[in-house]
Amino acid sequence: MSLAVASEFAGRVRYDEPLSRHTSWHVGGPAQVWFNPRDRADLIAFLGSLPPAVPIHWIGLGSNLLVRDGGVPGVVISTHGTLDDLQRNGASGVQAGAGVACARVARQCAQWQLGPAAFFAGIPGTLGGALAMNAGAFGGETWRQVSEVETIDRSGQTRWRAATEYRTGYRQVSAPVAGEWFLGARLSFERSAADQGEEVRALLQRRKLAQPIGEWSCGSVFTNPPGDFAARLIETAGLKGLRIGDASVSAKHANFIVNHGHARAADIEQLIEQVQATVQRVHGVALHPEVRILGEVG
Ligand SMILES: Cc1cc2nc3c(=O)[nH]c(=O)nc-3n(C[C@H](O)[C@H](O)[C@H](O)COP(=O)(O)OP(=O)(O)OC[C@H]3O[C@@H](n4cnc5c(N)ncnc54)[C@H](O)[C@@H]3O)c2cc1C
Repeated sequence: MSLAVASEFAGRVRYDEPLSRHTSWHVGGPAQVWFNPRDRADLIAFLGSLPPAVPIHWIGLGSNLLVRDGGVPGVVISTHGTLDDLQRNGASGVQAGAGVACARVARQCAQWQLGPAAFFAGIPGTLGGALAMNAGAFGGETWRQVSEVETIDRSGQTRWRAATEYRTGYRQVSAPVAGEWFLGARLSFERSAADQGEEVRALLQRRKLAQPIGEWSCGSVFTNPPGDFAARLIETAGLKGLRIGDASVSAKHANFIVNHGHARAADIEQLIEQVQATVQRVHGVALHPEVRILGEVG
């Protein structure tokens, strides 16, 4: 399907933009159309100009996405480097755009002496991605801090919704209606006298010791099943180091799959399926991917 965008955006979208440039696994075929809005007015105008049948996907920092080698038909909207306002909201609140990096939320909250926010430092994505995933780390979880979210739909209509309108759980978020994306959120914290800068440094150090930080990955591939850890199940099934093409199950943390440089998305997806099949056979437990898998087989 050919996709022509309105003339005012024609010079600013990118056609066939390789998504391998925008995902932390560094794999993935092209987005048919890639758009990085200047600001919210630009985003609203762009959405309003799209024909209703065009599929729309959103990407933050691509740190939880497996994009297949055949790429993504339709439009991919990138919030990287945009929608990135971050300000105080009252005595212990913060208002942030969807494109704000979680690490910045952590750093800024440490300066403002608001917490708990140190856990955001370990999540290498945007606030929008963290809202979509209910990202969490070290006992903290995104939606525990959310009081309201601002959303936008494909016609460009924006609205504020209370957090109580969403059902959230471990890496799960159910919206009250389909077809809305996050523009930003109001977060609420406690005033905290503790040295959160020190807490952030300690958490990052713990993470560095346990995870293959610096290698190309998507963090944890599978959610933890109730009462157990995916990493423990994968490791004790003898799968550490299992390799397909240029991807392998990390020798450092069994719930990570690492691209050694030239992996294809298909290598990673096959590894995911092989890990699931082996853990099911050995332990009788079904593992479910935490990563979002998107696009067409190449
Ligand atoms: C080394 C490493 C460590 C990690 N550690 C953790 C961890 O400790 N805890 C954890 O929870 N995760 C972790 N992750 C995974 C990832 O960082 C989080 O899931 C993060 O929240 C994803 O944010 P993102 O901006 O990269 O989203 P993307 O990967 O770009 O997108 C993820 C999903 O969110 C959707 N999305 C993105 N922006 C929006 C928006 N504005 N509105 C609606 N939907 C949107 C996308 O469509 C997609 O479905 C880790 C990843 C890596 C690489």
